[in-house]
Amino acid sequence: MRFDIVTLYPEMLRPFFSQGVLLGAQEKGLIEIQLHDLRVFSPDPRGIVDDRPFGGGAGMVMRPEPFFRAVDAISQEVGGRPFVILLSAQGVRFEQGLAKRLARHRAVTLLCGRYEGVDERVAGMADLELSIGDYVLAGGELPAAVVVEATARMIPGVVGRHASAATDSFYQGPQLGFPQYTRPRTFRGMRVPEVLLSGDHERIRRFRMREAWRKTLRHRPDLLGLRLEAPTT
Ligand code: SAM
Repeated sequence: MRFDIVTLYPEMLRPFFSQGVLLGAQEKGLIEIQLHDLRVFSPDPRGIVDDRPFGGGAGMVMRPEPFFRAVDAISQEVGGRPFVILLSAQGVRFEQGLAKRLARHRAVTLLCGRYEGVDERVAGMADLELSIGDYVLAGGELPAAVVVEATARMIPGVVGRHASAATDSFYQGPQLGFPQYTRPRTFRGMRVPEVLLSGDHERIRRFRMREAWRKTLRHRPDLLGLRLEAPTT
């Protein structure tokens, strides 16, 4: 699967994709990640990509042409139109099920905004306007990294033998993962639950299932259709 990311700051993302699971996935040929500098696609010889908002208001808005030209160039490169995502706090919320569905695409292009956001005509051209949560970041780069990593983990072979996506939170349904423990058995007076040391696989399975539901109820009752109390910070 190929990911193309169009951004004003490709160098911000390069180190992130050069380590860990995503590096391994690229080395195994399971994914390819291409970073594109948005300025290259500006029709302006100085590489300007933003302008003042029509109707007035603070800040600058990103012009549509560089994004359209970037998608045209990527389409040429991949031999067809990729699935195009505009990262935006105004988009539909990203979640695990969507990551699974995105992983079925051959090519996904992610467009990163900055400043006050992107000319709405880009949202009209994109196949999906996508938010990673109800907060506003300075740019779409971190959201793009989140989407690439979560999606790549859904591709068979990307997650190696040191982890399993199938027991992760959200994988099987609206449920968080179960709590995990490792050595030492006792640490600062805190003991690993006895059942995990019992070797009784059926008891362990039931314990983990119960704990997963307990945690879901405590932290994310909304996933079970219950009302979520505002957390105290
Ligand atoms: N004025 C915009 C609004 O009210 O939604 C916020 C613009 S934000 C400062 C700049 C860029 O960051 C956006 O164009 C988008 O690409 C990215 N961004 C910010 N928050 C995001 C989120 N929660 N999910 C995805 N992208 C986000």
